[in-house]
Amino acid sequence: MRWWGWGHDGVSFTHEDKPALGGFLRQRIDLDVSGVTSVPVAFEDLRITEPSLSPGLQAALEQALGGGPASTDPLDRLEHARGKSLRDLVRHRRGELGRLPDVVVRPGDEDQVAAVLRAALDADAVLIPFGGGTSISGSLEASEEEERTVISLDLSRLSGVLAVDAASRLARIQAGAFGPDLERQLNARGWTLGHFPDSFTHSTLGGWIATRSSGMQSDRYGDIGDLTRAVRVVTPAGLLVTRPVPSTSTGPSVREMVLGSEGRLGVITEATLHVRRVPEQRIILGYLFPTWADGLAAMQDIAASEAAVSVTRVSDASETAFSFATRKRPSILDRLKSKALTTYLRRRHGFDVEAMCLSFIGYEGSRRHVEAQRKLVGRIVGRHGGVCIGSSPGELYDQKKFDTPYIRDFLL
Ligand SMILES: Cc1cc2nc3c(=O)[nH]c(=O)nc-3n(C[C@H](O)[C@H](O)[C@H](O)COP(=O)(O)OP(=O)(O)OC[C@H]3O[C@@H](n4cnc5c(N)ncnc54)[C@H](O)[C@@H]3O)c2cc1C
Repeated sequence: MRWWGWGHDGVSFTHEDKPALGGFLRQRIDLDVSGVTSVPVAFEDLRITEPSLSPGLQAALEQALGGGPASTDPLDRLEHARGKSLRDLVRHRRGELGRLPDVVVRPGDEDQVAAVLRAALDADAVLIPFGGGTSISGSLEASEEEERTVISLDLSRLSGVLAVDAASRLARIQAGAFGPDLERQLNARGWTLGHFPDSFTHSTLGGWIATRSSGMQSDRYGDIGDLTRAVRVVTPAGLLVTRPVPSTSTGPSVREMVLGSEGRLGVITEATLHVRRVPEQRIILGYLFPTWADGLAAMQDIAASEAAVSVTRVSDASETAFSFATRKRPSILDRLKSKALTTYLRRRHGFDVEAMCLSFIGYEGSRRHVEAQRKLVGRIVGRHGGVCIGSSPGELYDQKKFDTPYIRDFLL
């Protein structure tokens, strides 16, 4: 991931292929996108301090890694210094780097994680587990005053789906698996975890558990706390293993203590998770509501109904206008269709185009189930003055839903 922003080099958001966006941003937030407002400090101009790492600890870490490298590479240290909150990005882009980790290690299995932790304890060093680095809570960053050696423990080599038990619908998955890779491995066996935070493409299972993450389909699948049945954690006191039982009535839950612990109790190496069969059909439909109040009331009625939808999302009028402003250069046919829709909404449904709100509702399951859900939701939407605008906007949303963090870099 880029040290100063989101995602991969070569992928970025631009206004150049979106004719309405420049005018929209000027009008709404007084931002002129024709001139560059700020650029990150060049990597070569950053003041990267020398790592504080004794030869003894370096040797102990390399031994723990089975002879593998303990990296003191400046870019590696920089990329592991912080998360991706707005505050993190602003400081990084200005060259205010804070306390960089001194060394980055990438253990290849649980034994190596335990050996690294032992080496850190013996040397009284600080150990910070690192998943995808998308944290927004500041937990990846050591204190500016920290004098002990800071080790960033990167879990990315622990990325496998180890086993799926079809009878109990439980999967054992290593903590460093990134969202897309994890889903790819499960989908290949016919299963899905169904956990899709906005940061899905660049975050890991261990990070989700350590931050008690929730995602865009958590209404249907549950958040990561609901999905996580058991954990394996390397702690300073030894290996902690909880059992994957569905529920217990035996006092405080150790699993619950690990959920959301932000790396403070130890390093999660593996978890057992509740998985579901990949649905037969999956569709996201777009809807328009006359006002925010109508859209919100419809979402509340859907939540209170028997409908089991996978996504419910409604934008306010500003976000709706932003979505329309980010459309790429439309063809003549697109322009005609869009004009026809606006006229239809105005004349037949009395919509004020400035106040209308865009919504996406997702359906998954067997064809019969999806059909029944669509009808049920359609009646609720209709009661609140909403209109279905079909599957094309939903398909576009589905393709682009993980790209929004790139917009932040563009606006910075
Ligand atoms: C643009 C953007 C969108 C986001 N959207 C969402 C969202 O929709 N839902 C949501 O819940 N969050 C969201 N987040 C926050 C962030 O993505 C989540 O907190 C995510 O779960 C972090 O995962 P990660 O793998 O990147 O972990 P990291 O950022 O690497 O680490 C996060 C914390 O967990 C600890 N940790 C990581 N791995 C382990 C491990 N194996 N063992 C022990 N501790 C560990 C770290 O030490 C740190 O304290 C978003 C963040 C950004 C920047």
